[in-house]
Amino acid sequence: MSKIEQTLSIIKPDAVERNLDGQIKEMFVSNGFRIIKEKKIQIDKSEAEKFYKVHETKPFYNELCTYLSSGPIVVMKLERENAILANRKLMGSTNPKDAEEGTIRKKFGLSIDKNSVHGSDSLENANIELDFFFKI
Ligand code: GDP
Repeated sequence: MSKIEQTLSIIKPDAVERNLDGQIKEMFVSNGFRIIKEKKIQIDKSEAEKFYKVHETKPFYNELCTYLSSGPIVVMKLERENAILANRKLMGSTNPKDAEEGTIRKKFGLSIDKNSVHGSDSLENANIELDFFFKI
């Protein structure tokens, strides 16, 4: 069954730094996403730690939070039919080396940490993450 959903996307520092945000936004739009809200911001490390709290026990947590707060990011509220799954598919695998042709991470990702985009992985997390950046 298909339904209209909203999800959170982040264009991460490695992509913003390389001025890829325009091209990445174009990929979303040409794949049927509407950009409902967007802003370019830089968060501090404590905010990144809060955002990535689900990963706090992972060995890469500290590195991940340092990275996400290392430069400007573009956060977007995206809308589409089945947006959560469609966004995960368009992003590609976490490690750009494993990402499928035509995905954002295959095209632009540099490494498992500098993988250019974040996307919510469930409806529940989309709501939490949209609230975090946009107060929904
Ligand atoms: P995603 O949902 O595909 O972004 O992947 P996860 O939720 O599993 O991980 C969150 C983010 O942590 C990923 O996008 C990567 O940037 C980073 N990450 C995941 N696994 C690793 C790892 O093994 N090493 C490092 N350095 N970063 C990782």
